[in-house]
Order: sequence, then structure tokens, then C-alpha cells
Amino acid sequence: DTIAQQIKTAIRDIPDFPKPGIVFKDITPILKDPVLCQNIIESFALQLQGVRIDAIAGIESRGFLFGLQLAGKLGVPFIPVRKAGKLPYTVKQKVYELEYGAATIELHTDAFEPGQHILIHDDLLATGGTVTAASELITEMGGIVAGFTFVVGLGFLKGKEKITPLAERVIVLAN
Ligand code: 5GP
Repeated sequence: DTIAQQIKTAIRDIPDFPKPGIVFKDITPILKDPVLCQNIIESFALQLQGVRIDAIAGIESRGFLFGLQLAGKLGVPFIPVRKAGKLPYTVKQKVYELEYGAATIELHTDAFEPGQHILIHDDLLATGGTVTAASELITEMGGIVAGFTFVVGLGFLKGKEKITPLAERVIVLAN
């Protein structure tokens, strides 16, 4: 099977989570398969060959699962992008709109140096709102967004179209 097929076979749909009417893609079965986890990291690394990446920013919390592993594989620092109030040192924040209301993400002010090329990683691409906010925050702090990587994309939400103009590379392993 291709990596996309392996991922699609592993993830499961959870109806009405976290709210009625939402079908949540549960990625935790992937974590029970260490060979598939290795293949995911290898596949990202292969597709990122030749791309300058100085650090990987992973989105709380499922973006930490593969983001840190990929940083280890590439031998670069990992940067946690967190929800408001979680990071202990001085932070810079970005408020962004959700379907209902707003959300805030934060980065430590010393997370990276201006001019560094930062890859943004999350488990799943839905509307693209979260990684767009992360991209804006990183850019405001003087970083260059090298690209985006996701294990899964919900193609029908057109997130890829939204974020493609923001970086040279968008990698989605399974749609
Ligand atoms: P977006 O900002 O692209 O609309 O939403 C993506 C964010 O919400 C990601 O951080 C992702 O972890 C989370 N998310 C939204 N829907 C799902 C889902 O069905 N499954 C998983 N695993 N995460 C989701």
C-alpha cells in the first residue's frame, strides 16, 4: 500500500465529536503502528530534501506528535506553537478567527532567530485557519515560512488552496 492508503486505513471517523454534527478524524491508531509512524517521518523527510529548514514549528497538541520526530530526523530544533497561557517565558501572540469566536496562539519570543526558515507542521489540515495564524505570527517575528506539512488533509474544506500562497511547499500525505 502507499503511505496515503496506510494512513487512510489507520485513521477512524468519530461522529459527533467534539460536537454534534462534526465527524472527527482520530489519528491515534497511527500511533499504535510504529512502522507506519517511521514511514510518515521518512516520507516527509524525502519530500523535504533540498529545502532549507532551520526549525520545525508544531501546533499544539497533535502537531507535537510527528513534528518533534521530524525535527529529530532532520536534526533541527523543534518549536512548540501553543494556545494562550501555556508557554512560561515571554511570548508573542496571534489572535485569529474561528467559525464561532476567536482563538489565540503563542510563541516564545526567542523561539527562533530572524531570517530563519521555519517549517510549520500539524496533524491535520482542515480550513487552514490555524496554520495561517501560525504563519503570520512567524512572519511578524522575522521568520521565513519554508513550508507546511500535514499527515491528513480534509480536501473538501479547501485548506490547501488557502495556504498554498503562504509558502513554497505544502505537503499533505493523505487526503
Ligand atoms: P483548521 O485550522 O485547519 O480549520 O483546523 C485544523 C486544526 O484543528 C488542527 O490543529 C487539527 O489538529 C484540528 N482538527 C480539526 N478537525 C480535526 C479532525 O477531524 N481530526 C483531528 N485529528 N484534528 C482536527
